[in-house]
Amino acid sequence: MTRIAANLQAVRARIDAAARAVGRAPESVTLLAVSKTWPATCVLDAAACGQRAFGENYLQEGLDKIAALAATESPGGLEWHFIGPLQSNKTRPVAENFAWVHSVDRLKIAERLSAQRPAGLPPLSVCLQVNVSGEASKSGVAPDDVSELARQIAALPQLRLRGLMAIPAPSDDPATQRAPFRELRQLFERLRADGLPLDTLSMGMSHDLEAAIAEGATLVRIGTAIFGDRSASV
Ligand SMILES: *Cc1c(COP(=O)(O)O)cnc(C)c1O
Repeated sequence: MTRIAANLQAVRARIDAAARAVGRAPESVTLLAVSKTWPATCVLDAAACGQRAFGENYLQEGLDKIAALAATESPGGLEWHFIGPLQSNKTRPVAENFAWVHSVDRLKIAERLSAQRPAGLPPLSVCLQVNVSGEASKSGVAPDDVSELARQIAALPQLRLRGLMAIPAPSDDPATQRAPFRELRQLFERLRADGLPLDTLSMGMSHDLEAAIAEGATLVRIGTAIFGDRSASV
């Protein structure tokens, strides 16, 4: 078994255990493999184990990998998610090459993605990135502005608003990990109660996936625990 195959199996076991611990079905949590900084051969290793969804942060690197793997034989092909910061002058290749964007945090970006999404493709799935308390970066819409922005984005024709995403600052303390995830879930439930048909809570990384799943994550974004320490990749 390759190192990546063994790591993937261990991550799936963590996801299953975390879901069962709170009475959730393990299949209710999608695993997004974050392949940033790792070469296409590593993506192929993971794809050979049945992993289908991959996340990239850096546009050019992601585009290169998508092109290199376009002919891969994975059933149904690979599904690419853009999860990094997005500048408005770089939206076109994202709209043309990715299936999902998790990092939408302003209307201008969403409008461009919608306008640039090719008509022959299904609508681009998007999550709103929210700056919850303890956020690791300055990106993300403020919690008070989520509702209005979500409504505006949900009205764009070539986008499908799927849910919310956050990247809280790392912590070793489970209670500290859970607080921002809970805040995101409460925002998510409020939007759903208001009638938006959202299905995705994108939260949880290698070090805090258990806390995220306990708070309702439907998609965890895992890099290090699958591919290894990124400082070793470059
Ligand atoms: C790098 C990254 C991840 C994966 O983080 P790990 O700690 O390596 O699992 C997840 N989400 C985003 C937005 C990232 O930039």
